[in-house]
Amino acid sequence: MAGIYVHIPFCKQACYYCNFHFSTQLNNREAMVAAICKDIDLRHNYLTERKLNTLYFGGGTPSLLNRSMLASIIDRIHDHFEVEEGAELTFECNPDDITPDYLTELRSLRINRLSLGIQSFFDADLQFMHRAHSGTEALKSLELIKQAGFDNISLDLIYGSPTTTDKMWQYNVQSLIDAGVPHISAYCLTIEDNTVFGRWHKQKRMEAIDDEKASRQFYYLLDALENAGYHAYEISNFAMPGFEAVHNSNYWSGVPYLGVGPSSILIMKRNVNGV
Ligand code: SF4
Repeated sequence: MAGIYVHIPFCKQACYYCNFHFSTQLNNREAMVAAICKDIDLRHNYLTERKLNTLYFGGGTPSLLNRSMLASIIDRIHDHFEVEEGAELTFECNPDDITPDYLTELRSLRINRLSLGIQSFFDADLQFMHRAHSGTEALKSLELIKQAGFDNISLDLIYGSPTTTDKMWQYNVQSLIDAGVPHISAYCLTIEDNTVFGRWHKQKRMEAIDDEKASRQFYYLLDALENAGYHAYEISNFAMPGFEAVHNSNYWSGVPYLGVGPSSILIMKRNVNGV
């Protein structure tokens, strides 16, 4: 078995903490999809294994691609590989892109695992981080995903932000537990070079992340999730039994994989290291 990671390098706007490789020039999407298809043609022989049991669309923001763009990439993968029946097809998406129609389209492409970048249910956090969605949209998207019948869902949260009080963090964690979300990825906010936060920090307009608060919020998360039946199977990833990400777990167990798209190797390394 083997897996393929596809990096989709587009975002609506730049989150102030993010130093991933992405562009906000959405009019280049068709050209990028063509380049990714070419990448698959040129590099598919890197894998000697022809059967895939995972596909992972990460970003950037894959949910900025429409159905026909996604179908082009998936079809090209099918030209070279056999995607096993029941393979895990993960798709990263942002709350502001989720509509019932879009979810139906994702299902028609056999996407069966959604990773939703919620980060927080509080507008104060989301606005500070310059996320494109609101707390209301975060809740609504989760509801729509469940109504559409996706049960393999992962949600991202960020802790340690100067705007996130312990009470807010507890609310975020408890909301996901109460919603029955089976997989949670939680990341500590970091100040990276070449980001708005990095610039603010250098200009002394932003304090360093409060390590004590971040550590307190992380330990709260560990306890709350453990008590709710989740287990920590990676530094930043927590799952109910049977909902561990097959794609990420395969990195650890040495299953061969291919990364396509402009920054796929760097992003995969970050996913494995939990940063
Ligand atoms: S955090 Fe995600 S949505 Fe925000 S800029 Fe980075 S890749 Fe794009």
